[in-house]
Amino acid sequence: MLPVGAQSSLTGGATPRSDVVISTRALDRMSVPRADTVRVGAGVPLSALQRALAASGLYYPTVPTYDGAFVGGTIATNAAGAATFKYGSTRRWVEALTIVLADGSLVEVIRGEVTASPEGWFEIERASGERVRVPVPPYHMPDVPKLSAGYYARPGMDLIDLFVGSEGTLGIVVEATLRVIPKPRTCAALVQCGSDAQAVAATAALRSEAARAWCDAGPLDVAAVEFIDHRALAAMPDEAFARAGVVRPGGASAVLLVQIELPEPQETALERLHDILDECGILEDPLLALPGDARGIASLFELREAAPASVNARVGSAQAQVHPGIEKTAGDMIVPFERLADSLALYRGALERRGLEYAIWGHMSDGNLHPNVIPQSFGDVERGRDAILEMARGVMAMGGAPLAEHGVGRSALKQRLLLELYGERGIEHMRAVKRALDPEWKLSSGVLFAE
Ligand SMILES: Cc1cc2nc3c(=O)[nH]c(=O)nc-3n(C[C@H](O)[C@H](O)[C@H](O)COP(=O)(O)OP(=O)(O)OC[C@H]3O[C@@H](n4cnc5c(N)ncnc54)[C@H](O)[C@@H]3O)c2cc1C
Repeated sequence: MLPVGAQSSLTGGATPRSDVVISTRALDRMSVPRADTVRVGAGVPLSALQRALAASGLYYPTVPTYDGAFVGGTIATNAAGAATFKYGSTRRWVEALTIVLADGSLVEVIRGEVTASPEGWFEIERASGERVRVPVPPYHMPDVPKLSAGYYARPGMDLIDLFVGSEGTLGIVVEATLRVIPKPRTCAALVQCGSDAQAVAATAALRSEAARAWCDAGPLDVAAVEFIDHRALAAMPDEAFARAGVVRPGGASAVLLVQIELPEPQETALERLHDILDECGILEDPLLALPGDARGIASLFELREAAPASVNARVGSAQAQVHPGIEKTAGDMIVPFERLADSLALYRGALERRGLEYAIWGHMSDGNLHPNVIPQSFGDVERGRDAILEMARGVMAMGGAPLAEHGVGRSALKQRLLLELYGERGIEHMRAVKRALDPEWKLSSGVLFAE
């Protein structure tokens, strides 16, 4: 049985392989939001959730770039988005889950109610009254702001965290209680940089400003800094720029899209933004879409989205015209922010040494970038996979991880990366969790790891 949400997974996790597919689309109930939580069905798209919350002046901050994803799918993958920098990944916002286990038991898991025993296990009662012990894996997770790499595991962890990010292998989420916040006054600023180094330096400065704002010591509250490199810009069609009302940046530039939460009055914060960009040697004024200009803000985010859309279209046409085996070949790498410049050099080196065409974009304020191959042949896909393996080993050596937000799914490459991250013993510890909760291997077989 394979539970699916909006099937926007980039890992094949929601692509049936002769499974019985369980659509969650009809689980579309939503409670009237309270001041700080909302109860919501697994089949509610985030865009619909956001619209309903906005009517009450509220906001759910952990939205992946694709906001058509369903609540259940984002919990199953511990999805993260640009604003993870300020708000963390989905995990932090999940207060309670109603889950159907593989034997049909319906369990309610509320954050704070069940934690792992000091010996490292949970006890769960099935519908039949039978009690099962579920072991907590002893592996050490990398210390990065977002991770979607198999089962969460920490000493004394909360039971709810075992289900968040388990990609449907341990149970089916049917309803969730999510934390929400008052809707911030969001502004977007498009910043043109002359080089990768300048983009990294500006992001570092904006991160420091944000840290000051979060402890009331500064005016510039930055929630996210997104990055598009010059190669991704070159792959984007002219219409994408025209729609956003942006002149295509020339030369070797990169672009940052800064998401800012503006206080009222906003002048001091905007002055600070200009000062920081000046200090980083960025001479061109940023293109601003201010709170209230919903269309302008949406256009800038659409421009950001045009980067993956354009590359995906190139992959699709190569698949149709050159070789049916051509597919998306992309990394989802994260490093501690201090190693961001090194990681960019690592990605470019690994791809260029293999003679590959590529583009890079991603959530720069988290140190999370997506190097994407633009394959011209099936050989490029094979060389691209090899490059991703090299990048994975490189980021792990930097204290990072090769599986930041998209999960593992049924992708052979991502399962290989999971193996690189935790080793065969780590995977065996995950299998022990799976066996305890789903001994007949009914749910999402082949997702995360082979049976
Ligand atoms: C253009 C684009 C941009 C994206 N950007 C981001 C991004 O910024 N950040 C990010 O994290 N991801 C991103 N993604 C990937 C994807 O949107 C996320 O992984 C999202 O969380 C998947 O949600 P979904 O509803 O589509 O789930 P699906 O794709 O349907 O399912 C994903 C996995 O979750 C399981 N699952 C689904 N529903 C349930 C349920 N109710 N209970 C248990 N298991 C379930 C499925 O079996 C599958 O393994 C992007 C995808 C696209 C196409």
